[in-house]
Amino acid sequence: MSKMRIYQIAREMNVSVVKLLEMLKEVGIEKAGNFSTIEADEYEVIRELFAQPANQPAPAESSGNGRQPQPAAPAPERQPTGVPRPPVVAVLGHVDHGKTTLLDAIRQSQVALKETGGITQSIGAYQVAYQGKAITFIDTPGHRAFTGMRARGAQVTDMVVLVVAADDAVMEQTREAIAHARAAEVPIIVAINKIDVLGADVQRVKEQLAKEELVPEDWGGDTIVVPLSARTHEGIDSLLEMILLEAEMLDLRADPNAVAQGTVIESYLDPARGPIASVIIRDGTLHQREVILAGAAQGRIRALLNDQGQRVNEAPPSSTVQLLGLSQVPPVGAPLEVLSSPARARQIAQQRANEARRGRLERSRRTLAQILSDTAQSGALKLLLKADSSGSLEALESELERLKSEQIKLKLLYSGVGDISESDVILASSAPGSVVIGFRVKSDAGARALAEREGVTVRPYEVIYQIADDVKRALRSLLEPEYEEEIIGQVEVRQIFKIPRVGTIAGCYVRDGVVKRQAEVRLLRAGAELFRGQIASLKRYEEDVRAVEKNKECGIKLRGFDDIREGDQMEIVLVREVQRI
Ligand code: GDP
Repeated sequence: MSKMRIYQIAREMNVSVVKLLEMLKEVGIEKAGNFSTIEADEYEVIRELFAQPANQPAPAESSGNGRQPQPAAPAPERQPTGVPRPPVVAVLGHVDHGKTTLLDAIRQSQVALKETGGITQSIGAYQVAYQGKAITFIDTPGHRAFTGMRARGAQVTDMVVLVVAADDAVMEQTREAIAHARAAEVPIIVAINKIDVLGADVQRVKEQLAKEELVPEDWGGDTIVVPLSARTHEGIDSLLEMILLEAEMLDLRADPNAVAQGTVIESYLDPARGPIASVIIRDGTLHQREVILAGAAQGRIRALLNDQGQRVNEAPPSSTVQLLGLSQVPPVGAPLEVLSSPARARQIAQQRANEARRGRLERSRRTLAQILSDTAQSGALKLLLKADSSGSLEALESELERLKSEQIKLKLLYSGVGDISESDVILASSAPGSVVIGFRVKSDAGARALAEREGVTVRPYEVIYQIADDVKRALRSLLEPEYEEEIIGQVEVRQIFKIPRVGTIAGCYVRDGVVKRQAEVRLLRAGAELFRGQIASLKRYEEDVRAVEKNKECGIKLRGFDDIREGDQMEIVLVREVQRI
């Protein structure tokens, strides 16, 4: 028997993949998903499971076509809320590998099917139906749109189709796309495109994918790889089928009766129609005339247009609509909310506009220390490395590898060869507290502007050890600081001067060690500690000094403590942060 996959068995048993996985888990068989393989003995268990007399209700998915014995599935433990919604798919990959052509091919086949005759217009995404099930494709290809949304906390995409040309190879942007998808924690389906081209080599591409830890399922891995041609349309059906399978596995749900929540995926100012935004509806249904808020833009919906350019009255979950009626152009990635009161919408929009202005000011004043403290809060130092060659990249990676320790995490979001691009900044901005490190590379103007706007730290370096030093320092800041104290001096209070409006100055004699202005003081009287704190001023004669040595006299004023008496003792304490790496 050739190896069976979970999704094939689910089909055979006429249950959903999710249900099948749940049932298997109950009998102690843990499988990851659609493409997990089933051994012969496990298959027997499954057959038995489904052959049991039906003393419980059959699963809802059972369409009752009579092909299979009635399943006796245990009632699911959690009842998922809402109804299944279409998956939202982003197509990513290296330039010229065929993303646009593939998106067009999928859309064309669909328009032909529907025979709507409507003029298709790009509104940032479109929906097709395959085997009666809808799929939404984001049709602004490229990482920018995808991660730009994530950078603002909007997780729009449910899965990524990674396009790799069969006559080319896994390229820099392919690896970038993989990093972006992984950062978003969404599944990747690989489309090996251009199989019609002379010189296409699917095997070679699979080998390269495996090196990126995308091991094709026919090689025992769990990555779905679909060879296809966007030009001849061969294989596109399989791709759509795989997308639907993955969607079933993800068990995507939404409530069409709820108030709509969406995300802006495209926006611009139309000279005739005013601000226009395309939104993907994440949950609920958006209706004509509703009052909406997106970023600092608000308004009442004047018109909703679908991806065929037709007016519609509502937009259900996972659909995309273009909407008119906003007060200004909202940023891509902004969440769309529906409010009941126009006045409230205006008020929130105004507040947001003010906050955004303040935020820009604050970000421009951020110090490295603040950035590092952000990093500390996130629990790990996240880095994105760009270097001038793969050789220096390797050197850099191994250098950083040495800095890892048990207590601190160092996470590499992405490493690649080439100048720092907008895409790098976007990836970094989607992981708060991350830092982009460039080694002997430049950053382009777009990347710099974006970094400024998004508050992403970009650090250029020319020397490896400086990177190591800085990273070490940053890592150190992630550890709870540990302090150690050293008594560096002993002082005797011999005389008291009370000065109006200044306070008590202690005339002291340094019996041992040294008094340092920056050190702390422990004030002791008859062996008991009365005060512990800082020195407000340290003087020798009338002059402010930084340190006074043994056998010398000085005047000490304590910060916030005046009850000093003759005969008191002071211990001068130096507090040092212990460096743990
Ligand atoms: P993108 O940059 O990833 O969006 O790539 P495009 O879709 O613009 O495609 C780049 C080039 O490859 C164009 O000239 C396409 O016509 C061509 N192309 C795309 N898909 C295929 C395919 O399946 N077969 C062949 N022969 N050419 C293709």
